[in-house]
Amino acid sequence: MIRIGIDLGGTKTEGIALDAQGAILARRRVPSPRGDYAATVATITALVAALEAEAGGPAAAGRGSVGVGIPGIVSPHSGLVKNANSTWIIGHPLDRDLAAALGRPVRVENDANCLAVSEAADGAGAGCAVVFAAILGTGCGAGIVVNGRPLRGRNGIAGEWGHNPLPWPDDGERPGPACYCGRHGCLETFVSGPAFAVDHAAATGESLSAEAIVAAAAAGNAAALASLERLADRIARGLAAVINLLDPDVVVLGGGLSNAIALYDRLPPLVAHRVFSDRIDTPIRRSVHGDSSGVRGAAWLWRPDEAAAFL
Ligand SMILES: [Zn+2]
Repeated sequence: MIRIGIDLGGTKTEGIALDAQGAILARRRVPSPRGDYAATVATITALVAALEAEAGGPAAAGRGSVGVGIPGIVSPHSGLVKNANSTWIIGHPLDRDLAAALGRPVRVENDANCLAVSEAADGAGAGCAVVFAAILGTGCGAGIVVNGRPLRGRNGIAGEWGHNPLPWPDDGERPGPACYCGRHGCLETFVSGPAFAVDHAAATGESLSAEAIVAAAAAGNAAALASLERLADRIARGLAAVINLLDPDVVVLGGGLSNAIALYDRLPPLVAHRVFSDRIDTPIRRSVHGDSSGVRGAAWLWRPDEAAAFL
């Protein structure tokens, strides 16, 4: 059995072939055909064929299940891609076009949902029934998995954490920075990597990348530490609202800022302080599969018993 996962990114498209246990049989990476939808479908189709050949030899061709992670969603209303920052796929029925090209059903899912699926399957959320996984990267997305399945929601937007307002804002945080979605003060405008860099620059006049601020804080720089404390408090407020509503069994963090180890000591007491409960023991963990979680989760969109039906 072969399960193919494809992660369609803005600059690169990555593909992976997994066996039933989640072991990697093949892996390839090609440039994304930016701006060209037909070429994107052709690229993914060719990538699937190459992965199948590499993973199982020619006899395996056409026998794998295929899942695709995209930076957007397929709208349950229109059947077309929306909310994608790879804008050339917007307005197209990507799942149906890929299914026609590959001659089998194809599951297409939001990339944050893929992170959650991957970590729930065999990562930081393994064994947990309800997993909330957030990407703190160039943006701020999140996904929810219940019993191994991504929770999509009636409108396909379940887990769109980043475009809720920052909870419990103080006066200095209102109305908050403008967000590309048209509103102000979205969580994404506070806890994404670029937002963290902007916040640090506003406080210190010092222009550093998010990664450099985290490194400076680790080295004991007081201003960088203060910025990291502000970031931790804001992430904690966002997570407290999630726990009050969903009460997941685990919270998993992915994306560039999830590598800031200092967050994991700070977050639990800050979250506990805000949650409506006398006791909170929700683990907050760094993703196990890191940057590979998108492509692994795409492959895990088909469970082993479902993928076996493709043989
Ligand atoms: Zn927004």
